[in-house]
Amino acid sequence: MQNETIAIHAGYNKKEGHGSMAVPITQTTAYAFRDSEHAANLFALKELGPIYTRLNNPTTDVLEQRFAALEGGAAALCVASGQSAIFYSIANVAQAGDNILISDKLYGGAVTLLTHTIKRFGISAKVFKSEDASDLEEQIDDKTKAIFFESLSNPQIAVADVEKIVEIAKRNGVLTICDNTVASAALFNPIKWGVDVVVHSTSKYTNGQGTTIGGIIVERDGLASFFKANENRYSDFTTPDASYHGLVYTDVPLPNFCLRARLALLRDIGAVQSPHNSWLLIQTLETLALRVDKHSDNALEVAKFLESHPKVKAVNYPGLTSNKYYEKAQKYFKDGKSSGLISFDVSSFEEARKVIDSAKLFSVVVNIGDSKSLIVHPASTTHSQMSPEELAKAGVNPVTIRLSIGLENTVDLIEDLNQALN
Ligand SMILES: *Cc1c(COP(=O)(O)O)cnc(C)c1O
Repeated sequence: MQNETIAIHAGYNKKEGHGSMAVPITQTTAYAFRDSEHAANLFALKELGPIYTRLNNPTTDVLEQRFAALEGGAAALCVASGQSAIFYSIANVAQAGDNILISDKLYGGAVTLLTHTIKRFGISAKVFKSEDASDLEEQIDDKTKAIFFESLSNPQIAVADVEKIVEIAKRNGVLTICDNTVASAALFNPIKWGVDVVVHSTSKYTNGQGTTIGGIIVERDGLASFFKANENRYSDFTTPDASYHGLVYTDVPLPNFCLRARLALLRDIGAVQSPHNSWLLIQTLETLALRVDKHSDNALEVAKFLESHPKVKAVNYPGLTSNKYYEKAQKYFKDGKSSGLISFDVSSFEEARKVIDSAKLFSVVVNIGDSKSLIVHPASTTHSQMSPEELAKAGVNPVTIRLSIGLENTVDLIEDLNQALN
């Protein structure tokens, strides 16, 4: 099936239950077992089914199956936010004494989480250049558990060299994790390019209306064989888990990455997505392809306008032929469309603040992927917790303004930016 069809039909059998056309919300904390044997079987994974909503929920299950199919994966796990999706995907493979390799171009929240917070758990992060992966292989050692990068990065709007990163990771037997939030499942499917695990903040384009916080982890088919082939690095999957009565994940015929994240991490740390938020995301996923197409077309038009404006010093949008990521965007993204983020530079910090304060239609908001157009100054907001050195490394400049282009008519968007710049 094609992605547009999957987004509407996968993972739900409308002939079941009451025949409800819409996926029902199972708004419950727990589930009644048939008897004590049924309960014991569920806990022992001899039978699959819901136990308690922190572990699984039928509404969330539909979203997980649908999203996994959309990304070409074997399974998915919904969590409470994009941040928890990133944390769980790392904590699922790394522990104290291990290290991970992270891209130099990441979302600000991912930078603080992966360089500062996980250090407190004894996991260190080394930075590599995701644009060309030129310094990736030399930094891999026996304790490297994952390579983490964004396909299309927020807020630098850089396109990663996915093929090269995957090739180096496979040669060294290291897991790749790609944050695909900005490109979205409609434009890019990292698993089809060999990536092992995909994470999303579903709060962004998947939701699309700024109403829901959510996160999801998707794994490719065949990770059990990968863990067995690299059992020194991934022994947590191939040896008994004392916290789950000696379960060996690679012995279980279920997609291993989400299984362990669910049974061990979601069970204990509990950043679960509410059934209501899963239901909202099921609604919005139906129109993801349509919306991202329009976000991309609108953004290209606005980017062309900005490029022609005398007060604009530089425009960064991968859909512009002048952009250094243009070739990669054409190669990786569906029809070369590049999603809704644009950044541009004006002459000074003061000028950047003036433009932001003069915009009327654009809201000053630190979100992206909303139907409403948004404008923000990353250096003083989303990236304000970073040091000047970290800012420079992350490519966040004090004169840079970031736009998240919405679904309004571009005539109005361009008119608003024009008056704000003049
Ligand atoms: C917003 C965002 C996140 C964090 O997601 P939340 O749902 O806000 O926790 C992670 N990665 C990227 C690329 C993002 O844009």
